[in-house]
Amino acid sequence: MENIINKIKNRDRITQEEALKLYDLELLELGDLANSIREEKFGKKSYFNVNRHINPTNVCKDICKFCAYSANRKNPNPYTMSTEEIVQIAKSAYSKGAKEVHIVSAHNPEAGLNWYIDSFKKVKEALPDIHIKALTAAEINFLSQEYHLSYDEVIDKMIESGVDSLPGGGAEIFAEDVRDKICKGKVSSRDWLLIHKKWHSRGKKSNATMLFGHIEGREDRVNHMIRLRELQDESGGFNCFIPLVYQRDNNYLKVDKFLTAQEILKTYAISRIVLDNIPHIKAYWATSTINLALIAQEFGCDDLDGTIQKESIQSAAGANSANGLELETFVNLIKNSGFDPVERDSLYNELKRY
Ligand code: SF4
Repeated sequence: MENIINKIKNRDRITQEEALKLYDLELLELGDLANSIREEKFGKKSYFNVNRHINPTNVCKDICKFCAYSANRKNPNPYTMSTEEIVQIAKSAYSKGAKEVHIVSAHNPEAGLNWYIDSFKKVKEALPDIHIKALTAAEINFLSQEYHLSYDEVIDKMIESGVDSLPGGGAEIFAEDVRDKICKGKVSSRDWLLIHKKWHSRGKKSNATMLFGHIEGREDRVNHMIRLRELQDESGGFNCFIPLVYQRDNNYLKVDKFLTAQEILKTYAISRIVLDNIPHIKAYWATSTINLALIAQEFGCDDLDGTIQKESIQSAAGANSANGLELETFVNLIKNSGFDPVERDSLYNELKRY
């Protein structure tokens, strides 16, 4: 262990096996190692953005076991917004200060390709300054299969219609044996990475998530991080890594044992250490709870996502994020936890210190 600790202190890259061993380290010692990297990069800054999540449809052809959002799972209320509704929500969010709309949906085979693409075009026409973060790699894979288009063709259409960056969703956990059990039929790990690689090759940025705390093991988490690190070495387009804590309500996935806060914090810390080439690590408070996200700032995380305003996917599965958080509340929570809130744009340019 001493050898691994020395490598981390010297900022040498650690291997997958060494990263796995870090789970055996005492929590606060591991936290200190991750925190020293965080402080070296960002000091006490904690980033967030003023954003609005829009989830335009919950009608889905896929059957992910962990999903509580799709109307084909346990959610009895199917809906599909009109393009006009999406534009209205974006306009209203913009008037309240949102700089970004984060648009992700289910895989709706009835809505049509143009519904997906036109909504971005119309939001951009109405609000040229707003940053559109839209379509996970899983949605791109769905559109490609459903409408017989190559990934490049879907990506070209997205860029033409004003999408600025890709969210990190749909990655779940890369281990294919676990994927088979929790989200069979959804984009493969290989194709998730390929789509991001193609997106990065256009000079565009994206994020990467990892859904953990269900039936995966520690090895799967560490392997997931290493595969992201390998792609980032090649393409350099990931801004942020977002470990998402599995939400347990209203779904079909049977999980015997839920993670302790300690295991969650260790996973954040290990991701900060392993992902030496991805600038930001986000504690997405919608899945970790705001209290644990505030503590995660001392375990390597430098980003707490944003005010959200409204969120339908994680909250359907039990997260306390349906109505987001008021800006003032959010800023005060960060300040009171001893960090400096910094409002950022979607590409991590600093907009305002509080
Ligand atoms: S997680 Fe997404 S792709 Fe999977 S069933 Fe739910 S909405 Fe569909």
